[in-house]
Amino acid sequence: MLTNLLRTARARLFPPPLLTDTYSCDRCGLYVKVTDHPDRVTKILNVVARHDCKPKPKAL
Ligand SMILES: [Zn+2]
Repeated sequence: MLTNLLRTARARLFPPPLLTDTYSCDRCGLYVKVTDHPDRVTKILNVVARHDCKPKPKAL
């Protein structure tokens, strides 16, 4: 119990480092940069990867 308390306190003082990751879609040109906790970055990028992709018409 005391160990849990210490672990919680330490996690609060020293949060895990944030992770920066990017996603770019070569079909529509979408570019997203995410900086968040590693577990959240994965979730966000999973959502971004399922974006409503509308490929840009190629410029003539
Ligand atoms: Zn796309």
